[in-house]
Amino acid sequence: MRDIRLFFMTVISCSRMRGAKVAVVGAGVVGLSTAVCIAETLPGCSVTLMADKFSPRTTSDGAAGILCTEQYPDIPLERQRCWFRDTFDHLLAIAQSRHAPEAGVLLSSGVQIFREPPANKRPYWWDIVFGFRFLSERELRRFPEHTFGQAFTTIKCECSSYLPWLQHKFTKAGGKLVEKKVSSLEELSPDYHVIVNCSGLGSKELVGDVGLVPVRGQVLKVDAPWLKNFVRQEEGKSYIYPGSSYVTVGGTRQEGDWRLAVDPGDTEAILERCTRLEPSLCRGRMLGQWVGLRPSRRNPRVERAGQRLGGGRGAHVVHNYGHGGYGVSLAWGTAVDATGLVRSCLQEMHLQAKL
Ligand code: FAD
Repeated sequence: MRDIRLFFMTVISCSRMRGAKVAVVGAGVVGLSTAVCIAETLPGCSVTLMADKFSPRTTSDGAAGILCTEQYPDIPLERQRCWFRDTFDHLLAIAQSRHAPEAGVLLSSGVQIFREPPANKRPYWWDIVFGFRFLSERELRRFPEHTFGQAFTTIKCECSSYLPWLQHKFTKAGGKLVEKKVSSLEELSPDYHVIVNCSGLGSKELVGDVGLVPVRGQVLKVDAPWLKNFVRQEEGKSYIYPGSSYVTVGGTRQEGDWRLAVDPGDTEAILERCTRLEPSLCRGRMLGQWVGLRPSRRNPRVERAGQRLGGGRGAHVVHNYGHGGYGVSLAWGTAVDATGLVRSCLQEMHLQAKL
């Protein structure tokens, strides 16, 4: 729905955007979604996406990609619902299209289980996913030690396929890709009207964000094709997510831990926890292991910077980073928001130029 509104507002303002130059920094799921959204909905703009790492070397590439999120403390709930709903609906349309296999987007059903019932038994997204319900006592008997559970069908977006697919969509829409490390946003200011910062954890250095912390996550990729349904324990502490070619088994959430190497102690702990939930996992064959650092913040930062660069005369800056453990779940929704902010910057510049 918001996509349609965005489209009509764009058609009206499109002529004003002609010749506008936009740079997007970051080629993870947030940067690519934002770049595609801008290129497709503000067609008068020329969009350049720059990053020091592209797929398959980003954090997004290794994410399990299950759409399921938590509530951030300081962002109005309605805005968070929009981010999740827009992402869900956007990906659902892909899952329902003939592009689903190459885009790596599929529906996935399963359960989320808790030792003690959570304070909020119905998360805010309960009516956005499909078929949300509580588990019966009989169903819960599968998981001794757990007293509460939810069942639902959501989307699994496999970024190792989705990112190359988005990249192709972006270049098809006229976008340019540049591989480079940006050392400051100021260095881009002379060449662009608006810079969109989607650099994830890179924003710690790039914009000096001290509130951004890595939350280390280690996962195992297991060949166990008989497993079809996901099991998620206590909001992502342990999880088993069957995918199109392997099962992602996790995980860890180690705050402030920058280690990218696989930790054998974590491997053992993950296997021990997850085989208790799904005993047949012990028959699976380990295909590989992966570690990624979630770009975590108290709240994601999706906003216009207060001031233009270069003492107020240079490029506008729009930030879109800090999605923590839920970047895949919120990427398209925050991209739609960021695109609206880019449009408002360009309209303001157009008005100022007329004065
Ligand atoms: P990234 O993917 O890290 O991309 C950042 C981009 O910015 C990269 O291209 C990088 O090269 C570029 N960059 C940074 N600094 C600079 C610079 N100075 N100059 C140029 N380029 C720069 N989320 C979910 O929703 N569902 C899940 O099931 C899920 N599972 C996960 C499991 C694990 C183990 C982990 C670690 C994460 C998981 N996540 C999940 C979270 C998700 O991976 C992140 O929220 C998401 O990848 C963040 O995307 P991003 O685009 O902001 O960052």
